[in-house]
Amino acid sequence: MKTLLLLSLWTTLTYAQLIRIPIEAKESLRRERIDFNPDHFHHPHYLVGYVEKAELSRMSSSLRKQVFLLDGKQWAIGAYDRETFEKHELKTKDFYEGYHDYAALTSELKRLVELYPKLITLKTAGQSVQGRELWYVIVTEGVDPLGAKPKFIYHANMHGDEVVGRELMIYLLRHLTQQYGRDPIVTQILKNAQVYVMPSMNPDGFELRTRENAHGRDLNRNFPDRFDSPSDTPSGREIEVQRMMQLAKENHFVFGMNWHGGEICFNLPWGNISNHDEKNKHGDDSFFAPIGREYTSFNSTMYQNDHDNFDHGLTYGYEWYPVNGGINDWYNFYRRSLHAVVELSFTKWPQASTLNTYWDSNRDAMITYLWRGMRGVHLELKDTLGNLIATPTITVAALPKRPLTFDGGTLHRLTGDGRQTVTISAPGFQSKTIEVDANYFDGTFVGVTLDKNG
Ligand SMILES: [Zn+2]
Repeated sequence: MKTLLLLSLWTTLTYAQLIRIPIEAKESLRRERIDFNPDHFHHPHYLVGYVEKAELSRMSSSLRKQVFLLDGKQWAIGAYDRETFEKHELKTKDFYEGYHDYAALTSELKRLVELYPKLITLKTAGQSVQGRELWYVIVTEGVDPLGAKPKFIYHANMHGDEVVGRELMIYLLRHLTQQYGRDPIVTQILKNAQVYVMPSMNPDGFELRTRENAHGRDLNRNFPDRFDSPSDTPSGREIEVQRMMQLAKENHFVFGMNWHGGEICFNLPWGNISNHDEKNKHGDDSFFAPIGREYTSFNSTMYQNDHDNFDHGLTYGYEWYPVNGGINDWYNFYRRSLHAVVELSFTKWPQASTLNTYWDSNRDAMITYLWRGMRGVHLELKDTLGNLIATPTITVAALPKRPLTFDGGTLHRLTGDGRQTVTISAPGFQSKTIEVDANYFDGTFVGVTLDKNG
């Protein structure tokens, strides 16, 4: 117990300081090479974000003068006015009560498995720094999911103090299981897809009430970044990051969402490249942005969040603030997965009594988003002897920037609506171009046979 106390004291010391600076000070931060990690927050005059304490003392006096220190735990529970930064000291315990802590989350997931053994499987991706399980559940019809169904992943609470998503994942699991066989869309999703739900990627951070993990590291800056650390290797990364990388390596997630808090918006890729230029846009933007737009239209608070680079709640990561080492770009770039971020609440840690209002404003959006993940072309690729082809590459004519290579011959390539021209190539085979209508996966694949070269 004493060791644990000492350990938590020691880790507290390594956490970064939350600060506010005027937007104009961004240039000085850059010039003085201060490592500033912006928070999810949008304000016309100020940026809010994290710096290591050593960075604070490195700042020039003129820059340091512009820094206003914020109390991270008070910030998370909404003690500061979002316009004026006036602080009304709040009692943290009033906010921490009523949430599923690690023990309660664990037993709730186990309870759901017991209630719906044919729909839910509980698994762990491994353990956190402090030894908590990174629980996830697979929701699909049938205990043992077939490999051919598309896999989706929703994960939340990557930042330990952004907790609405963590709770909404429980609401979602209850909804999916209760509506299976009742709601036709939910039923179709569970019948023909596998929904992976991880309520907390950072269970230690939740218990510690911190953004970072128990090493004081921001997990959403710790993934391989295609520009700044262009090697897709887990070594040297935080354990929670390594576990997620492993999970996504073992499972090709076609589609997913990473739930955060501190703003209310739908954040499209990329996170770490300029989107101002059309040519830098994500290769699937033509159908992904409308999916994002649709999400915002379901959530009236999100839709009304319309200013600067928030277009009715829709924004591109880089235009808002660039993220280096984020999970979202990692999925989109390294894992051939289509991923976005939704920010669910202005207050990262609102009172538990308000959680149902967040569920009400995101329920239909969350379900519809999953449903859109079923749309595309679904192919089964075989050679002339009837063997599945190992590593086909699919290029959709309407999405030429994003040829995707799959592991194995049954695949799901998300697209927009309508007829798609698809070129399939594979090592040792003659490539083939076919025309196929996009549809919502109903369990059937379009069969394609490729001829061997020569
Ligand atoms: Zn976050």
